[in-house]
Amino acid sequence: MAGIEVTALHKRYPDGTVAVEHVDLSIGDGELFVMLGPSGCGKTTTLRAIAGLERQTTGDIRIGDTLVNDLPPAERDIAMVFQFYALYPHLRTRDNLAFPLRAEGLPKPEVEDRVAEAARLMRLGPLLDRRPNRLSGGEQQRVALARALVRRPRAFLMDEPLTNLDAELRADMRTEIKHLQGELGTTMVYVTHDQVEAMSLGHRIAILNKGRVEQIGTPLEVYDRPASLFCAAFIGSPPMNLIEVEVADGKLRSKGGLVLTPPPGLPRDRSLVAGVRPEALEVTEPGAEGSVPARVVSAEWLGDEIIYVVDYGGQRDVRVRMPLTVRFATDAPVGLRHTGGPPVVYDVNTEELVA
Ligand code: ATP
Repeated sequence: MAGIEVTALHKRYPDGTVAVEHVDLSIGDGELFVMLGPSGCGKTTTLRAIAGLERQTTGDIRIGDTLVNDLPPAERDIAMVFQFYALYPHLRTRDNLAFPLRAEGLPKPEVEDRVAEAARLMRLGPLLDRRPNRLSGGEQQRVALARALVRRPRAFLMDEPLTNLDAELRADMRTEIKHLQGELGTTMVYVTHDQVEAMSLGHRIAILNKGRVEQIGTPLEVYDRPASLFCAAFIGSPPMNLIEVEVADGKLRSKGGLVLTPPPGLPRDRSLVAGVRPEALEVTEPGAEGSVPARVVSAEWLGDEIIYVVDYGGQRDVRVRMPLTVRFATDAPVGLRHTGGPPVVYDVNTEELVA
């Protein structure tokens, strides 16, 4: 097992596209590290560079103590799982698993032991004698994961491995992957554009945007204090409300009159935006204490809660998370109140977190 260090990675494709501008990552031995970002932000290119499937233009990659810049994929001792299963269609599960080990020339008893171990971990026992066309999508993906496991690599690299599964299976597989990684303790780098997946899986998450890392942190850190306006708008479902504010009389006040507790260390003389999570706001009866006038634009039912979209102070898209028991009709005049602690605050011009 091994940690992975990526230093000043830059990748420009032959057609001139810069996919990775500058990426530094320090991934711990045994860590489940997630790279998260929108389509085209450079996650896959970074992962493929770690795997050796893509040569970086500049920058260094170390796996354990080894500088692997010049090593072909097969010599990097990593296993990669893609969103497409890529099983051999003519081989039964047990032979799909054994294939990479036989290719390495391992003795037969060792091959059998390792296949049995991987089958146990991924619960493939009843499927060992089936060919891929008799496996469901989820089963095929479990076989693909097991095939990565049998090699006992120093690290797993996963590129959106659950994308092609339906929602329920995806949730199950997520749990399996997390459990498996914990049990094996093997370093894993996991690429996704799905923030729920990132939040539920990662020990730490790197948020990428336009070929750069915007933030690295635990799921809680990334949720509580997004490092930039980009991260604030990307993390959370629905994401934070971004509300223009001014500092006046030691208070943080929005144009529509909403008063927020200012966080310590607020800079002066800058244009500021407060990031307020939908759960830190409350829709009230009009005129309720501490509320400002607002109007319900729409309500989105999300199972056990409602997201109210309200128009307040000229901003028509303020989102508020409320329990199902609180009901207001569309167009109803309501109050809007802040219930949380101090919000996070961003500089409008630099787009960075300032307090
Ligand atoms: P996605 O989630 O859509 O896979 P990503 O974050 O993984 O996106 P990359 O696949 O790394 O992003 O691509 C980053 C940028 O590089 C994109 O603009 C993409 O179009 C471009 N790109 C990727 N591969 C190549 C290539 N072989 N040649 C030229 N440009 C490429």
